[in-house]
Amino acid sequence: MSIKENLLSLKNTFVNPHCLLVAVSKTHSIDAIKQAYDLGVRDFGENKVQEVEEKQAQLPKDIRWHFIGHLQTNKVKSIAPFIYLIHGVDSLKLLTEINKQAIKCGKVINCLLQIYIAKEESKFGLDINELDELVQSEAIKSLTNVKIVGLMGMATFTDNENMVREEFKNLKSIFERLKTKELPANFDLKEISMGMSGDYILAQEEGSTMIRIGTAIFGEREYK
Ligand SMILES: *Cc1c(COP(=O)(O)O)cnc(C)c1O
Repeated sequence: MSIKENLLSLKNTFVNPHCLLVAVSKTHSIDAIKQAYDLGVRDFGENKVQEVEEKQAQLPKDIRWHFIGHLQTNKVKSIAPFIYLIHGVDSLKLLTEINKQAIKCGKVINCLLQIYIAKEESKFGLDINELDELVQSEAIKSLTNVKIVGLMGMATFTDNENMVREEFKNLKSIFERLKTKELPANFDLKEISMGMSGDYILAQEEGSTMIRIGTAIFGEREYK
C-alpha cells in the first residue's frame, strides 16, 4: 500500500480523532517524508541525532520534529535549535542540559518525561519513585527554559492485549495522579505519548493524546 492509502486507513481506525499522529520516519527517505508532508502531515519522529539533523536541513521548516529516541546529554546541543518536542526525558541531568541549550537558543523546549511501564528490561524510563523524586527536586524548579508537557511510555512488545492495555492504563493513572500534585511552574501537563503501529488503538482507548506511528505509514524499516 502507498503512504497515502496507509494514512487514510490509519485515520479511519482512530478511536480519538483529536489524537496527534506523529509519523515516525526513522530510516525512511526524504522522499517518503515529502509524500507524507504533501498529504498534510507536519509532525515527524526520529530517534537518531545525526539523522534528524540531516533531514531537517533538507525539509520544509514548518515540520515539527519530535525526538523519540534515547537522547545522550552531549547531543542535545545539535537538536536544540530546531526540535519541537523531546519524548524520552528520563533524568534530571538530561533535563538540565536541555535547559542549558534552550537558553543558548533563546527558546523554551517542550519535553515529555518517559515512564517505565513495560515488563521488559530493555526499555528506558523513570519508575514512579524516580518520577516523584524528580518532580519534587529543588533543581527542577530553576529550569526556566524547559516545559514538561506530559508523559511518554512504551508498552511491552507482546501479543498479549490485556497486558498492553494494563500498561497504558497505568501510564494514564500516573499522569492523572501527577496532575493532582503541586507542580513547579515549568510543568503544563497535557500530553500522553503512547501507542505505536501495533497498539495505537488500545492506546487511544486508554487516553493517549499522541501516537508514534512508523510501520503502519511507511512500511517495514530496513536497517543497514
Ligand atoms: C520506532 C519507534 C516507534 C514507531 O514504531 P512502529 O511500530 O514502526 O510504529 C514509536 N516509538 C518509538 C520510541 C520508536 O523508537
